Amino acid sequence: MAKSMVCQYWNEKMETLPRPELEAYQLEQLKTMVAYALRTPFYRERLGREGIRSGEDIKSLADLKRIPFTTKQDLRDGFPYGFLSISRDEVIRLHASSGTTGTPTTIYFNREDIGRWTSFVARCIYGTGCNHTDVFQNMITYGLFTGGLGFHAGGEAVGMLVIPSGAGNTTRQFKLMQDFGTTVVHATPSFLLHVESKMREEGVGRDSIKLKRAFAGAEPYSEDTRRRIESLLGIDVYNSYGLSEMNGPGVAFECQAKNGLHLWEDGYIGEIVNPDTLEPVPDGETGELVLTILCREATPILRYRTRDLSAFYPEPCICGRTHRRLHRIKGRTDDMLIINGVNLFPSQIEEVIMSIKEVGNNYLIVVEKDGVLDRLTVKTEVGPEIFMDDARPLNALRERIRKILQASITINPRVELHEPGTLPISEGKAKRVLDNRPRDI
Ligand code: ADP
Ligand code: ZN
Repeated sequence: MAKSMVCQYWNEKMETLPRPELEAYQLEQLKTMVAYALRTPFYRERLGREGIRSGEDIKSLADLKRIPFTTKQDLRDGFPYGFLSISRDEVIRLHASSGTTGTPTTIYFNREDIGRWTSFVARCIYGTGCNHTDVFQNMITYGLFTGGLGFHAGGEAVGMLVIPSGAGNTTRQFKLMQDFGTTVVHATPSFLLHVESKMREEGVGRDSIKLKRAFAGAEPYSEDTRRRIESLLGIDVYNSYGLSEMNGPGVAFECQAKNGLHLWEDGYIGEIVNPDTLEPVPDGETGELVLTILCREATPILRYRTRDLSAFYPEPCICGRTHRRLHRIKGRTDDMLIINGVNLFPSQIEEVIMSIKEVGNNYLIVVEKDGVLDRLTVKTEVGPEIFMDDARPLNALRERIRKILQASITINPRVELHEPGTLPISEGKAKRVLDNRPRDI
């Protein structure tokens, strides 16, 4: 729980709307989105096959099930304008995904779409206790990536002083923090860990900056990583989830209870399905998150298979919001590694190593072929208190990490220890896995 639980609602009516009213609102918005979607050849054909020819063919939320899923491949096939449902003259902005898993996908906004998106991001920011007195440094990539401009606009809507610092260049980031009294930042969790290491390296005193909070997202991270950032920097860290296909940031966010991310159900309909059978799974069970956007006329995307793995919390949150909470994202279905027949998510490794206090702030997972077998190597940096020239404690630490990992993931990894600051870092999303195995032909 955050140090002081204030519970600030940006839009009290919508954030605490009783479920029956929230669902009635969703139904109206869904009809509107379907009507817009039907203007594109893709949805005209897909929905037509199911007998959906107008928004009014959606009679209840149960009709959502009649709508076929949309995949990332569908969006790629429709590049560049296949999913645009309004005249190009009415479009005022486009964004694209980062392209982590292939060709990026593009989305379009009209003026009202940008306004709605901005108010969802403002809702997230305000809900963590920020207000117009805060100074917000947005340490994330600007440009086609939605995290930059999305948070920028949300921060301005809240009335904070927004510093569009962008990602990278830690020395300059410290200078900005010190000069302008930054109280809140937005970054990837891996960049926040890097910032902390650099602060120590460059001798930037904690009392020379006024930081209180951070929004961390765009990539998966574990609860231990959150705790590590919080305790090292002495701040509150809030998990921020979004994806460009659903506007970008502002889809789901933690409130001050810091226990699951509220999915803003007046903007998005969420479903969790079994990724193999595509059947819904019960609340509390992990599956693939499927999202339908309710707030974007220019590019309505219905039942989008995010490939992100999560689960719904069955119970309501103590903060009074009626919107359901998602578990922190475990990773993408396509992140799963199969190592000598055992399924493994990189997040399982992260969970283990980030809880070991001698382990430093960066790591890399390497998979190679060793004859017919797969070989897993976990490279981690060590903390600053470990001396690299003293072999005995190093060997003991390496062996301890190996044992803890093996017990948890049932695979025997090789562990390599590296000096702080020597493993590669990236300005955008961290690249944690190097899979060097030859691809099957
Ligand atoms: P790309 O799919 O090319 O990376 P985006 O830049 O739109 O495109 O990134 C969205 C994706 O980033 C999400 O689908 C998810 O996999 C990941 N992501 C975003 N926020 C989080 C978060 N808080 N936790 C875990 N993963 C996240
Ligand atoms: Zn809450």
